Amino acid sequence: MKTAILNKGKEDKYFNQYPLIEEEDIFRSHNLKEGDLFYLMTSTDVYIATCYVGRQHKGLGWVLSYDKDEQINRTFFHNKFELALEERQYFYHIDGTNAFRLFNGEGDGVGGLTIDNYDGHLLIQWYSEGIYAFRDDVINAIKSVFNYRSIYEKTRFKNDNIHSGFVLGESAEFPIVIEENHTFYNVDLDEGRMTGIFLDQKEVRKKLRDYYSYERKVLNLFSYTGAFSVIAAKEAVETTSVDLANRSRTLTEENFGINAIDPNTQKIFVMDTFDFYKYALRHNLKYDTIVIDPPSFARNKKKTFSVMKDYNKLIKGALDILAYNGSLILSTNHSMYSLKAFKNMAKRVLDEAGVDYNVDEVMGLPKDFKTHPHYKPSKYLKVIFITVKH
Ligand code: SAH
Repeated sequence: MKTAILNKGKEDKYFNQYPLIEEEDIFRSHNLKEGDLFYLMTSTDVYIATCYVGRQHKGLGWVLSYDKDEQINRTFFHNKFELALEERQYFYHIDGTNAFRLFNGEGDGVGGLTIDNYDGHLLIQWYSEGIYAFRDDVINAIKSVFNYRSIYEKTRFKNDNIHSGFVLGESAEFPIVIEENHTFYNVDLDEGRMTGIFLDQKEVRKKLRDYYSYERKVLNLFSYTGAFSVIAAKEAVETTSVDLANRSRTLTEENFGINAIDPNTQKIFVMDTFDFYKYALRHNLKYDTIVIDPPSFARNKKKTFSVMKDYNKLIKGALDILAYNGSLILSTNHSMYSLKAFKNMAKRVLDEAGVDYNVDEVMGLPKDFKTHPHYKPSKYLKVIFITVKH
């Protein structure tokens, strides 16, 4: 077995079950290639864990087992999936919801691998070539543990020779319609990086509908397929969706359509958010609820946007068009932006603006997105609900 030996003093972190092997903590190792298994050892040659090489960000790979004798094979994945399935039983029995995460990377014991269930159509996501090297064992284990109509896969690493798409089963006609919180959404598992819906926001969508939409004008920024707009529209006076991408208009209209909401009764702008702020100011538009859920980084012709640097500008712009007693729903999925820093940034902007406000609620990931207790970045989703009295 190959080994990687830690720098002196680094062993406590890994004995305490930190699951990601950080390159900078390694003193010396065999020539480690993607998909290799290796023992993580202390500088005094004591075994800590069995790991695989799968490079992601600053990680060299992930811990798979703390038992030196445990083999990493189909049975290993089978056991992990069985446990995950047991913990997801509740999600199979929610009235009005048929899509959720079945297996969440390091939270379920295998970093770099996720499996989602979209009404019986499963989507595997491979985050590194390393985890992809275990593809046969993983797929065989999935077949023996989960019920499914079909299996699809997406690679989240760069390799032009490896293709995403259909794996096996009864192939679906996309878009399929999934249901969540008694609301319908189009999903395509075979097209691009995204599927049409971000399953990790389901509780936020529900909260938006139940507490922040009734008789309100709701503005959804970075709206993508309009998931927040569609659920809000069930209660709201009117929704407005803003997204830079051309495709967002049709996708949003279609999502309204499958929920029996006439898209012509709602507003959709294909526009940069900051340009929309100017437009709304010029036309004296005001909104009672503003949802801000941007990508962590974005580049368009004119400029780049980074959540860490520019979120404050998003809040400032929103405050200018927020109605009296209006609410902001601020979301980020940047794993390196801590909740504390995110909250402090929001408070600073609101204080500087001199407004009275209340932090109503802070939300994170739903339970099916099981997180790792010793690895903070696994709690990547942070959503803050704020009500402002100007
Ligand atoms: N909030 C969405 C997901 C957002 S995905 C949801 O809950 O489903 C990010 C989206 O931001 C993409 O659709 C992208 O087109 C859009 N986007 C990126 N930069 C933008 C900008 N400057 N202004 C408006 N939309 C932008």
